[in-house]
Amino acid sequence: MSAGQRLIVVLGDQLDRRGPLLDDLDAARDTVWMTEAVAEAERGPVHQQRLVLFFSAMRHLRDELHARGITVRYRCIEEAPVGAPDQGLADHLRTDIGQLQPETVVMMEAGDWAIEQDLQDAVHESGVALDWRRDSHFLASRASFARWAEGRKSLTLEYFYRSMRKRHAVLMEGDQPAGGAWNFDKDNRAAFGRDGPGELPPHPRFEPDATTREVIDRVVERYADHPGDARDFNQPVTPDQAIEALDDFIRHRLPWFGTWQDAIWVGDPLLYHARLSTSLNLHLLDPRDCLERAQAAYRAGDAPLNAVEGFVRQILGWREFIRGIYWLKMPDYADGNALDHHEPLPSFYWDGETDMACVADAMGAVLRYGYAHHIQRLMVLGLFAQLYGAHPYAFHEWHMALYLDAVDWVSLPNALGMSQFGDGGVVGTKPYCASGAYIGRMSNACAQCRYDPRQATGERACPFTTLYWEFLDRHEARLGQNRRLQFQYRNLHRKSDAQRAAIREQATRLRAQLAADADSRGRG
Ligand code: FAD
Ligand code: SF4
Repeated sequence: MSAGQRLIVVLGDQLDRRGPLLDDLDAARDTVWMTEAVAEAERGPVHQQRLVLFFSAMRHLRDELHARGITVRYRCIEEAPVGAPDQGLADHLRTDIGQLQPETVVMMEAGDWAIEQDLQDAVHESGVALDWRRDSHFLASRASFARWAEGRKSLTLEYFYRSMRKRHAVLMEGDQPAGGAWNFDKDNRAAFGRDGPGELPPHPRFEPDATTREVIDRVVERYADHPGDARDFNQPVTPDQAIEALDDFIRHRLPWFGTWQDAIWVGDPLLYHARLSTSLNLHLLDPRDCLERAQAAYRAGDAPLNAVEGFVRQILGWREFIRGIYWLKMPDYADGNALDHHEPLPSFYWDGETDMACVADAMGAVLRYGYAHHIQRLMVLGLFAQLYGAHPYAFHEWHMALYLDAVDWVSLPNALGMSQFGDGGVVGTKPYCASGAYIGRMSNACAQCRYDPRQATGERACPFTTLYWEFLDRHEARLGQNRRLQFQYRNLHRKSDAQRAAIREQATRLRAQLAADADSRGRG
């Protein structure tokens, strides 16, 4: 490359055409650098559709750039030797800087602390100038979140969320929240009655085009033994498709999103959920578009306030909060293991084979779609891992492998933090621990299960209920004084010593059974 030439690094989750990486492209001097992360794909059993999503979305951007006359240095999986470990992204970048000799490398804040460090190191080592850009996809910058967090004893979503509503004038009437309240959570916890959700609006279909079909074929060829089926892939891979998915959600599901946000119904994991997280996290969809369209639906009287506020809370509140926490706390955050949990995940986290109806249902969704909705993630799969005592980082790694929307910045605080309490109370002030009774209230799973959520011991004891009491018992020294767990501990204290001993024995038998299952399925 000659004087003034730039190498612009675009990662698989930085595909925003209007973002800071691509908004000043100059075909005369720029080469865009994109590499399919084969090393990551081959580190373990990654969901096939996750690979299709990232590689297909990247190839669509590559082809658009080609069509605009931009040079793209694109490395695809077909180029990586089969069976031999591929180099990581940073090594590939080192090689290409050496070959192309750009004057400047342009990079943007990444979604993964370790990748960001490695890529920056690669550029610094090469002696080439680095043009570093802030990721404007997010409404809160890393620095503004750090300013908000400074001096606070605890980081509470609710206060952050209110400050974001005010700063960005979202659902505000002057300086007051629309409808006179910040929070409609109490309206958003309904469960479906015995008759279930009835007919649900179908989720949109995105027929794979030639580019996606090509990736599907390569993934099936190369990763046939990975979980999931690439041929079932049905996700947006371009900004136009992402906007189509958003419009479909706003029109057909947003009005009911709030009310049924926490409900579970066996056999239907999608319900009224947005299913927009893959598009958002690959930056195919701008969160501002989500906020604008949701508010427009409210103003037009097409969606009630509890639904719109619930959605805004997820996008402007939780999503931005989680990212802020990640960058504030990394890299130490990844080592968090406040409950000192060390078990590997039971084998059903990989193959879905279990007689627990709620887990089998949630795992069915994960294997089929690379998706489960929030309550299945938190209060079924996450809850079981936590009560069981799984290592919080192992749970995060599992999440990164099997969910299409997982990127380190969002999976780690949700999986290790919110769900496993590995951070000791940064994301939430107490562990999300509950017995099978919670699942019984929020779903129809227990009615079809061989276990009984009310029983902690005996032949029909629900594993969640057994492990719930044993969890409280085991962690009494650590958690017994937590103000928000007082009700639960008072109930534990009503149990006799003999009952507590029987629960401990039942839990020991259950763990031994799950460990034996893992051994027999080669996952011990
Ligand atoms: P909806 O329920 O329809 O919500 C709308 C949007 O709000 C989502 O698309 C998402 O962008 C945003 N959102 C909602 N809650 C959160 C949250 N807690 N953190 C960040 N964004 C949020 N979300 C991810 O995007 N990637 C992950 O890897 C991820 N890992 C999770 C792991 C666990 C254990 C838990 C409990 C939650 C995790 N979440 C993650 C958050 C949430 O469950 C998903 O964003 C949501 O289920 C995605 O489905 P949806 O688009 O249908 O979301
Ligand atoms: Fe899940 Fe227990 Fe209910 Fe069975 S009884 S579905 S294991 S909560």
